[in-house]
This record gives sequence, C-alpha cells and structure tokens, in this order.
Amino acid sequence: MQGNADMAATGRRASARIVMASRLLALLGCAAILCSVLPSLGTADDIPTPDEYVNHVGGDAQIVAPGQLKLDGQSMVCGQRPTVLDSQLDDYGAAYPGFLILNPRLLTRTSTAVKMWIFAHECGHQFRGPDEETADCFAVQRGKRQGWLTEEGLDEVCRFIAPAKGDSMHFAGSNRCSYMRQCYADPNIR
Ligand SMILES: [Zn+2]
Repeated sequence: MQGNADMAATGRRASARIVMASRLLALLGCAAILCSVLPSLGTADDIPTPDEYVNHVGGDAQIVAPGQLKLDGQSMVCGQRPTVLDSQLDDYGAAYPGFLILNPRLLTRTSTAVKMWIFAHECGHQFRGPDEETADCFAVQRGKRQGWLTEEGLDEVCRFIAPAKGDSMHFAGSNRCSYMRQCYADPNIR
C-alpha cells in the first residue's frame, strides 16, 4: 500500500501523463480510481494495436475478441472493440483507441455491477473520448438502459470510487458520484 502523500504524487504524475497522452491520442482514458500510466510503446504518439500491447507487456496478457468477454457470466460488448486482459495493469481498467484493457486480478475483488460499470466506463472512452466524467455518464446510462445497473448497483459503484479515508482524491470521487447520479436519472442520453 502506498501512503496518502505517495498516492497523491502518483496521481499527479499520472494526470500529467494522461493529459499529454490524451492530446497525442495515444491513450484514451483510464482510471476507475487512479489513472493508470500505460507503458510507453515506442514513440509517444504511437497508438499500439492489441497485439503490440500484449507483446510489450508480456506475462499472461491476452486478447479477447469483440463480444467474447464474459464477466461473472455476463457477456461484455463494446461495439467491435476487443479487450486485452492484463493482470499487471496498475489499475482496474484502461483504454487505448480501438481496444479496452481490464485487469482480471483486481476485478475479482469487485461486485458484478462494479465490474460491468468499469467495462462500460472504458467503453465510454471509445465512443466519447478521454473525459472521465463523460465516460462515467456513458457507463451509468448504458447500464440503466441495458438493465444491469440498478440504484443499488450505482451505490456500489459510488462506494467503489470513494476512497476508504479522506484525502486529496476524496472530493473528486464524491463529485464523480453526484454527476453519475444526475446522469442516471436523466432520460436524455448525454
Ligand atoms: Zn476513464
């Protein structure tokens, strides 16, 4: 575990990398809780293919074809995008343009609703771009429309993104949650 100061520093570094990466369109988005810093794959503005990503990270990373992924028995679909399962990813999920990345090792700790929300959040980056609040909104509206995200499920998501104790991330977490509740209640797709 990292201390709060270390976590804050890591978050700042990650945010700086994410802003840079977003501008270059190398990395679409990240972060269920903290932003992941995805490995550099050659030049900064290279967008890796799923194969290149898997070859780069090695280990047990594997590509799951579009529509083939199941989480807790539920089929996960994000258009024609494949998902890379990477248990070494330093976050629950991430997104490059064209594919999603999930960390199956971390996902086992979460409820089904939270797993599906994480997938939908990373899918949101595919269709809505790098903004985190927009990806959050996409995920909860999709979950409500498809019937897998109830009010109780949204409560689980809010507990998931809220840190265990107050720190520099806490305010951001509660803001994300209140925005997601607004989106969930809004019949208009944002
Ligand atoms: Zn994100």
